[in-house]
Amino acid sequence: MQTQTADRLRPFGTTIFAEMTKLALDHEAVNLSQGFPDFDGPGFVREAAKAAVDAGRNQYARPAGEVPLVEAIAADVRARLGVGYKPLTEITVTSGCTEAIPATMLGLINPGDEVVLFEPYYDSYRASIAMAGGVPRFVAMREQDGRFTFDRDELRSAFSERTRAVLVNTPHNPTGSVLTRDELTAIADLAKAKDALVISDEVYEHLTFGAEHVSIASLPGMRERTVVLSSFGKTFSLTGWKIGWAMAPAELTAGIRSAHQFLTFAVSTPMQHAAAVAIREGGAYVAELQARYLASRDALAAELARIGFRPIVPEGTYFILAEHGAVSGRLGVEGDIELAKKLTTEIGVAAIPPSVFCDRAELMSGYLRFAFCKTPETLDEAIRRLERLA
Ligand code: GLN
Repeated sequence: MQTQTADRLRPFGTTIFAEMTKLALDHEAVNLSQGFPDFDGPGFVREAAKAAVDAGRNQYARPAGEVPLVEAIAADVRARLGVGYKPLTEITVTSGCTEAIPATMLGLINPGDEVVLFEPYYDSYRASIAMAGGVPRFVAMREQDGRFTFDRDELRSAFSERTRAVLVNTPHNPTGSVLTRDELTAIADLAKAKDALVISDEVYEHLTFGAEHVSIASLPGMRERTVVLSSFGKTFSLTGWKIGWAMAPAELTAGIRSAHQFLTFAVSTPMQHAAAVAIREGGAYVAELQARYLASRDALAAELARIGFRPIVPEGTYFILAEHGAVSGRLGVEGDIELAKKLTTEIGVAAIPPSVFCDRAELMSGYLRFAFCKTPETLDEAIRRLERLA
C-alpha cells in the first residue's frame, strides 16, 4: 500500500507492540511480546471505577487532572521519592505515560533542539522527538557484568551546544536496569553543566526486585530542570485505563499543558477517581504484585536458560532480555526480527525483537525481550512450546 503518511512519521511505520500482538493473535501464539498483564487488576479499584460512574462523574474532567487524583499522586511521590510537587500547578494527568511523552516534547522542545536518548529506547520516544522537530542523539546501553549500563564518555560526547534535554528511563525498558544513584548523578551533573532538561520516564518505578528506584528529580538541584513521567497501568495491572502523568515545576508544566490541552484536552473522568483510590489505598496490592513478579522473573529466567537462551536477569520492569545465539543458530535464522517472527508463527510464542528500539540495530539484534507479567499457566505454556527448541 502506498500510504500518504507525513514525512515526519513515515520512518516509524507501525509500532512493534501492535504488530507483534496482532501476529500473536493471528497465530494463536502465547503473547510474551507487548507488556500487559493477562490477569485482572485489583477488585477494589474496579469497584471504585463503577462507583465513580454511578455517582455521575461522567463529564469532561479538569484538563490537568481531577483534584483527588493529583492530590493522591503528590502525597505518594512526596512520601516515597522525597520530591514535593504542588498538585494543582505541577502535575498533569495524561492518557497514559505514552501521551505525556509527546506532550512534553511538543511543549518543551523547539525544532532543531537535540534530545539525548539511551538506546535501546521505548519506540514512542523517538517518534515524539520527531513530531516536535527535535534531533535525537544516541547513547548505547551495553551489557557489562551481568547488567546494562552506559559509557560515561559516550554520554558526555552526546551533549552539544544544542542539547535541550536528556531522556532517562528507569527502571529501563527493555534492559531491566534500575539506574543507580551513581549513574543518575553522572547524568544529572551533565544536565546541570549544559543547562539541559531531564525527562525521566519512571513508569516501572514500583516493579523493582531489591534494587532501589531513585528518581533523578530527587538529586540535588534537579527538581527544577526535570520532568518526571509515570503512570498507573503497570503498578495496578490495568494498562487499558490509560492514566499517566507528568510532574514538573510550574514553568515547565505550562509547556506540557499547552500541548496536552490540544492532544486529549482531558482524560476519562471516572477512571481518574478510581486511580486516586488505587494510589491512596494500594500499598498492599503493590507489595503482592512485586512478590508475584519476582517469582515469575526467576521462573522464566531459569526456564529460558534451560532451553538455551542466555537471560540477563532484570533488576526491574516486567521484561527479560535474553541472548538468543544458540537458539537462532539451531533454527538457522539470523537476528532478532527473523527469530521473533519464526517463534511466533512456528513455535507459538511471541516476543519483542529489541533491535527495533535502536538506531544501531546491532546493539540489540542478539537478544529477544520476553514479558513475564503473565499468569504462571501462561508462562508454563510458553515454556512447554519453547522446549521444542531445546
Ligand atoms: N510499554 C509496553 C511495552 O513495552 C507497551 C506499550 C504499548 O503497547 N504502547 O511492552
